[in-house]
Amino acid sequence: MSEAEARPSNFIRQIIDKDLADGKHTSVHTRFPPEPNGYLHIGHAKSICLNFGIAQDYQGQCNLRFDDTNPEKEDVEYVESIKNDVSWLGFEWSGEVCYSSNYFDKLYEYAVELINKGLAYVEELSPEQIREYRGTLTQPGKPSPYRDRPVEENLALFEKMRDGGFEEGTACLRAKIDMSSSFMVMRDPVIYRVRFAEHHQTGDKWCIYPMYDFTHCISDALEGITHSLCTLEFQDNRRLYDWVLDNITIDCQPRQYEFSRLNLEYTVMSKRKLNQLVTEKLVNGWDDPRMPTISGLRRRGFTPASIREFCKRIGVTKQENMIEFSSLESCVRDDLNENAPRAMAVLDPVKIVIENYQGDGETLTVANHPNKEEMGTREVPFTRELWIEREDFREEANKKYKRLVLGKEVRLRGAYVIKAERIEKDEAGNITTIFCSYDAETLGKNPADGRKVKGVIHWVSADKGLPAEIRLYDRLFTVANPAAADNFAETINPESLVVNKGYVEPSLASAVVEQGYQFERMGYFCADSKDSSAETLVFNRTVGLRDTWAKIEAK
Ligand code: ATP
Ligand code: MG
Repeated sequence: MSEAEARPSNFIRQIIDKDLADGKHTSVHTRFPPEPNGYLHIGHAKSICLNFGIAQDYQGQCNLRFDDTNPEKEDVEYVESIKNDVSWLGFEWSGEVCYSSNYFDKLYEYAVELINKGLAYVEELSPEQIREYRGTLTQPGKPSPYRDRPVEENLALFEKMRDGGFEEGTACLRAKIDMSSSFMVMRDPVIYRVRFAEHHQTGDKWCIYPMYDFTHCISDALEGITHSLCTLEFQDNRRLYDWVLDNITIDCQPRQYEFSRLNLEYTVMSKRKLNQLVTEKLVNGWDDPRMPTISGLRRRGFTPASIREFCKRIGVTKQENMIEFSSLESCVRDDLNENAPRAMAVLDPVKIVIENYQGDGETLTVANHPNKEEMGTREVPFTRELWIEREDFREEANKKYKRLVLGKEVRLRGAYVIKAERIEKDEAGNITTIFCSYDAETLGKNPADGRKVKGVIHWVSADKGLPAEIRLYDRLFTVANPAAADNFAETINPESLVVNKGYVEPSLASAVVEQGYQFERMGYFCADSKDSSAETLVFNRTVGLRDTWAKIEAK
């Protein structure tokens, strides 16, 4: 495949191609503009891959800009996590990190310019009155009694706002546009408000803060952004975006284009809701592996490549849609199937004793990947007593059950053929030990007499294996669209986290954080970056080997 074919195509890239062909632009400059009021989620990854991906493919630039005009909701913790997540996803922003707050002085001057042109005024109606005067979708708004104040008075009052002369909610600056516009955003939008709040970047320098619509377009223009890409809910705001830039003295005219948000089934995406999950302790922090946050997916074992691939597969359009969670999972499964070394772990152990096995055990050499020799081999201890998966044994079973059955044979992965001879149970009737025999002539070969042994099960040495906590994750919510529920928090899946006490082969003592492993027959796992240590191994299941949900839903 040539490089051009490997590139995604979408309506935005077609616009860019045309702009370059027409000579409207000679290079492309995009930006990713998160508000630092929460951690990034998989929806942001879509926007990141789009903006940074375009810059990469067109040899252009992409800025990382914090859209930080709401001091009360924002925090440096979020700034740091966002930078970290963007880098982890494999993207580099152009130059220094930008902040809208860097432009507060300039934004103030542009507001003064609008006042001087008779295009902005200081409003003293209360927020409730402003709402009332604004009208509705079917009724035009009516002008505020303060709308036609003389320029001089507006200049003086705006200065008074800046100097702390107004209480919050008693004055604001509004653009003077059109109170009967069919676009509500054009009905004299508020462009500055009073907030006596400390800002994480500018401290207590300001007690007035510019609104998003006024800030965003000017920040784009100041940074020389050519294509300003945002989600569809800003479609109407494009009028205001253009109006502001058309009415101030600035020599750059970025264009805004909108695409549809990513919505994923069985999760929520709004930062407000994610914040609620964290603050109400319904999950264990922003990076809980069940969260759709970048940091949660990362801790769960998703790779940057798998998330980029997902964003590529979903594409960029103007259609609103809901993506199945399994499409995200299949991206990481495809990646790990190729790249994850294999290992053995028993998640729900039952002991077997191979009674005719003599000696202290032996060391077997096992391939790290069934069809990638270059990934090498590792040593796995085999002993007389082993753990196998409880579900891999039955006292009786039909022919479809290709595992260990009382009186029958099965192969232990990478080792010998064993036969279950008898079992021991506790008082409650639970099997405590399965006594087996083994065929010493079957290491790496079939039984000599032609006996067919079809099933293969995994195992871990009971003497040498290491205890491990193994966390199994499921959908965080029980309904496909929790955001539509009356109280989304009530639809949390109580089984979204199940903790198992199992055993892993000793090579996993040195499991590298953020290295995915395929635990044979059980799925893809990684060591938990926060809780796993040499003393207590903790593994997260990233994803199962197959899409078990598809089966359940089909039933
Ligand atoms: P949220 O509702 O999750 O808080 P937001 O749009 O308020 O999202 P921002 O920090 O303002 O979050 O978003 C930064 C950029 O990421 C914006 O350009 C926004 O359009 C984009 N973005 C946010 N959520 C999604 C999503 N689900 N799909 C695609 N892009 C998104
Ligand atoms: Mg926002």
